[in-house]
Amino acid sequence: MDNWQELEHKYYMQTFYRAPITIVKGQGAKVWDDKGKEYLDFVAGWAVNSLGHCHPAVVKAVSEQAGTLIQTSNNFYTIPQLKLAKLLVDNSVLDRIFFCNSGTEATEGAVKLARRYGKLKLKGAYEVITATGSFHGRTLAMVSASGQSKYQEPYTPLPTGFINVEYNNPQAIKTAITDKTCAVMLEPIQGESGVNVPDKGYLKAVRQICDEAGILLILDEIQTGIGRTGKLFAYEHSGIEPDIITLAKGLAGGIPIGAFMAKESASVFAKGEHGSTFGGNPLACAAGYAAMKFILDNHISENAGSMGSYLAEGLEKLKIKHSLIQGCRGCGLLMALDFKTNIAKEIVESCLEEGLLLNAVKPNALRFMPPLNITQADIDAAIAKLDSVLTRHESCGV
Ligand SMILES: *Cc1c(COP(=O)(O)O)cnc(C)c1O
Repeated sequence: MDNWQELEHKYYMQTFYRAPITIVKGQGAKVWDDKGKEYLDFVAGWAVNSLGHCHPAVVKAVSEQAGTLIQTSNNFYTIPQLKLAKLLVDNSVLDRIFFCNSGTEATEGAVKLARRYGKLKLKGAYEVITATGSFHGRTLAMVSASGQSKYQEPYTPLPTGFINVEYNNPQAIKTAITDKTCAVMLEPIQGESGVNVPDKGYLKAVRQICDEAGILLILDEIQTGIGRTGKLFAYEHSGIEPDIITLAKGLAGGIPIGAFMAKESASVFAKGEHGSTFGGNPLACAAGYAAMKFILDNHISENAGSMGSYLAEGLEKLKIKHSLIQGCRGCGLLMALDFKTNIAKEIVESCLEEGLLLNAVKPNALRFMPPLNITQADIDAAIAKLDSVLTRHESCGV
């Protein structure tokens, strides 16, 4: 069998836009396809492979744990779960954690917790205010929470209880709050809708509004958390403390995991009110502990910050050279490059030929989300590849 892509077209549900390569191997910031071609990976498992592909610390933890204990259910105490719980609580402003298996489950769980809080402490308030352009996951409730009609329209009628208001506008949140509101849920930077960085002071203003109304602030840090923006958590940039955060993507260095964390005052679940068969299993948590410990011990968040600045400098230089570039924005190693026209898809395709994996986050924008331990040499190589692709596009008059 060698035509894997034909197999996909025949057997898999046709819901993904896939690049026409079949990846068979990864190491660090590089992957190889089934023809042996090498690529520099600035997608990194969709901001998941925080330490690159098959990082030795993660491989070792997974291999050892797989031979020791993989799954027990939460009917019992297990050690990797509790070690990772302690590590995350000790390094955040949150007091308790719940583990699940994906980002969607984390935001869904956070909203359930906020509704419990509303029932117990806010006279039954249940509505959650979210932002337009947000992305919080794919369950029916989370597409309802996500303020993007492309995820919602195929599935109407949607579960109720979510109000989508304009992002980066604290007043819009203030106006939307009623006695039915139990929480506001926001991404510190909107990832999926284009790396939208809000104005400085936005989260601070929202925190104040939530405090005045006595409601919870949930930050969805699934994409921004665990070092991606140059701090361990993106809330650290804003000088505020959220009541609840959600995590997933980069948390276990590539192994599926999700989590939500809450302040003691918001940790209101009673026995039996939430659960998960696989959530917090020893295998995923051992990977999470190894990845987190490596990130903390080796100052990987700081590396993401400095390499993010280095990448931004490289992109600014490309802007001077190539008139089709509008500009770049982002924070740490979550970065976007805007074009003046909708050429992002073509550029991604050409970069693929050139041996560089990128994401077209919008018709006119590329997203960069490389491993957090990326080196200057890899960034130089990526910029050089992008430079030659842009030069070629310009000479064709695109
Ligand atoms: C990716 C993402 C999710 C969904 O995570 P899944 O693991 O795909 O379910 C939710 N919120 C944000 C901000 C994300 O980036």
